[in-house]
Amino acid sequence: MSPTQGKVYLVGAGPGDPGLITVRGLDLIRKADVVVYDRLVNRRLLSNAPVQAEQVFAGKSPEGAAMDQGTINDLLVREAREGKTVVRLKGGDPFVFGRGGEEAQALARHGIEFEVVPGITSAIAVPAYAGIPVTHRDVSSSFTVITGHEDPNKELSNLDWGKLAGAAGTLIILMGISRLEGTVQKLIEHGLAKDTPAVSTEWGTEYQQRTVEGDLSDIVERARTAGLGAPAVTVVGEVVRLRESLRWFDKKPLFGKRVLVTRARAQAGALSELLEEAGSVVSEVPSIEIQDPEDWGPMDKAIAGLADYSWVIFTSVNAVDSFFHRLGLASMDARSMAGIRVCAIGPATASALLGNGIHADYVPAVYTAEKVAEGLGSGGLAGSRVLLPRADIAPAELVQAIEEQGATVEQVVAYQTVTPRLSGHEAREALVGGRVDVVTFTSSSTVRNFHALLGDDATDLLNKVTTACIGPVTARTAEGLGIQVGILAAEHTIRGLVAAIVDEMAPNVDEMAPDREA
Ligand code: SAH
Repeated sequence: MSPTQGKVYLVGAGPGDPGLITVRGLDLIRKADVVVYDRLVNRRLLSNAPVQAEQVFAGKSPEGAAMDQGTINDLLVREAREGKTVVRLKGGDPFVFGRGGEEAQALARHGIEFEVVPGITSAIAVPAYAGIPVTHRDVSSSFTVITGHEDPNKELSNLDWGKLAGAAGTLIILMGISRLEGTVQKLIEHGLAKDTPAVSTEWGTEYQQRTVEGDLSDIVERARTAGLGAPAVTVVGEVVRLRESLRWFDKKPLFGKRVLVTRARAQAGALSELLEEAGSVVSEVPSIEIQDPEDWGPMDKAIAGLADYSWVIFTSVNAVDSFFHRLGLASMDARSMAGIRVCAIGPATASALLGNGIHADYVPAVYTAEKVAEGLGSGGLAGSRVLLPRADIAPAELVQAIEEQGATVEQVVAYQTVTPRLSGHEAREALVGGRVDVVTFTSSSTVRNFHALLGDDATDLLNKVTTACIGPVTARTAEGLGIQVGILAAEHTIRGLVAAIVDEMAPNVDEMAPDREA
């Protein structure tokens, strides 16, 4: 083999949920020169490839062949010969009905180096996500995976139906929702009891997952009535009964709900994670971007004269970050805050302060201007100077409330929020296309910027979905723009916001149809 020759990695992408790829698989995608992927590979995985990497769709849709196996094999050989690192990304496991074996043979034949990275197969993962263990003590001690859609050149009779029907274990049928009828008939003909429990699960492990329950005699009819299509896995056997008590994924409170997060990219993480944990599908459309102020002068001056202030009020994590960044540049640290009292608006701000060695003296339980001012004033504010490092937009109510207590508030711009130019289009598409259930707003600027991003009919578009606001100030900004606020968090934190969305959107579990049929 020439030293310049590349290598092909046959990588299993897992069954759908992008979190179910292996660490090694993901690592290889990150290093790939070319990614050749199949239809069932979750496209979100591709975003991990280097931007300059080539992405080739080798999908074979059930309707028509996009690229035949010979062409795919040739492509892999050619790219490797050009010295490239080729990731051949296949749904599930590459060697389970994935024709990975044939591709490996072609590579071996041409003397191309390759490695196989196994994946989590849908045959086991899809039942697991439907709450069905494929083996279970005292119920089933073996499982068989078959395909209902064999190579069209082969007869279905390639399978020993007598043995399959007679086996005591679990039967897992891949492919073939369209051929399920034939498969089921064969099993019944060969003596498998008609009342053997069966389920079909479509788009398993993904947010669109749907499961239809029945038994061998009626599963085809039920799947048809529910409009189940490819990809689907059907499980036949006594283990199916365990779903009733083990169902977990499609029972999550926000299962299948599509939520749009409008925070700045750097801050969206925590909210997105909590929403995903609750089962929803999150899209992040950052409607604000945090930038340095036009002029650091006022902030630096305030820092130099820090000792003159009796309070510093931090209204956001951004303000904390920016303040301590400038403090550090002035060769100062938390010790310069000795003797100055510090107020943090909200627990996230308080914990950002802690990260900088400051234990906030006051964290108001309620974040309205009046309450904050009241708390500050309990030790007497008259004549004192209060420093407020803030965003480019002034929190007028807060300043007024504090000044009413006789203090002077000095405001310095710590950061500015700007509207990112690129995200408007995706957001519009998602809303117009009806692909959003909830839009979240975590500050007045997210409301204003997102509204501006959407364009002229923003209010109409937003009134077609449920909007969720973190607190009364944000809600008032939304209402001022004509947006109906569907959900208002009782506790004005990210956690509180998610809890409020769950309260409003989650179906009552008792009322849920057992199999979510149409
Ligand atoms: N190598 C893959 C299987 C390829 S055959 C694996 O190991 O999973 C394709 C079949 O896999 C589909 O027709 C369907 O039966 C099943 N399948 C793959 N992903 C699925 C999913 N997310 N939900 C349900 N079935 C799936």
